[in-house]
Amino acid sequence: MKRTLRRILLVSTGGTIEMSPGPGGFAITGDAAIDADTAMIPPGIELCHRRLFSLPSPHMTPARMADLARELAMMETSGEWDGVVVTHGTDTLEESAYLADIHLRGGIPVAFTAAMRSNAELGVDGPRNVRGAVLTAASDEFHDFGVVVVLNDEIHCASRVTKTYTSNVSSFASPGYGPLGFIDGDKAIFAQAPLRRLRLPAGGLVLDERVGLVRVAAGLGAREIRFCVDSGDRAVVLEALGRGNVPPDVAEAVSEAVDSGVTVAVTTRCFMGRVMGLYGYPGGGADLERRGAVFAADLQGHKLRLLLMACLGAGMEEAEIRRLLECV
Ligand code: ASP
Repeated sequence: MKRTLRRILLVSTGGTIEMSPGPGGFAITGDAAIDADTAMIPPGIELCHRRLFSLPSPHMTPARMADLARELAMMETSGEWDGVVVTHGTDTLEESAYLADIHLRGGIPVAFTAAMRSNAELGVDGPRNVRGAVLTAASDEFHDFGVVVVLNDEIHCASRVTKTYTSNVSSFASPGYGPLGFIDGDKAIFAQAPLRRLRLPAGGLVLDERVGLVRVAAGLGAREIRFCVDSGDRAVVLEALGRGNVPPDVAEAVSEAVDSGVTVAVTTRCFMGRVMGLYGYPGGGADLERRGAVFAADLQGHKLRLLLMACLGAGMEEAEIRRLLECV
């Protein structure tokens, strides 16, 4: 039963939204936190605050992301909250949001938000983004959409959203899919629902961080895969070319990795579209499939890496990982 007064928990983790300019550049300062008044939260919503981290995005590690996802899972089942909003640095927000998305069960809305501009800049976006995320998390119309990311008045799926622009407030987009909805006045308007959802099997979240990520370019990738294997990685994510193709020497390195028991998961460096085993030439997608590589549709490399860490941490075999990836 939803309460008339919505109780929303704001969990802060750091990022530009909490930063002010100082002599050495932007830094997190205690005086930049956003409260209900600054974010102009409408009546009917009670906003409580809990600090989890005070970190810039590049200081977020997979282990910290897993801590955050586990905390959110506890908040989800506590019965204390109608929704949770997480503020985060924009650089790695999509990774933290994605890990939470595949771990959480969806009991209450969870919305991540951030700011592209610090509170000291002209046209500051943090308070407005918090407001949008709070309205989303408090909405009656929020269904089982998974974790969402709300910035610049747009609501995006954590699994699809990505930071597309280094500095513009319209940076967050879901290429090829578009937003789930938007903020209009005091309302979160949901216009579409995601049909494809991947969730980890229920249980604790444990990451095995031995997963490498290699971006393929003309003449590049074989040495990098061998480095990952020699360093003890149990899986390697390959951001391949186009439909999922690589140069012939990279295909040889894929075979060596697979033969030594390392899972090689292929996605694309294109920012839209799925990989598929179409091309049969040495290094073509069909050739990589024959060599035993796993294809991961259009999941971005950095999200696929976290997914594999969680799968390996849960003790899943490659066959189970292949089945799970069919949901992408
Ligand atoms: N580099 C900043 C960070 O700490 C970016 C941001 O928050 O927007 O994440």
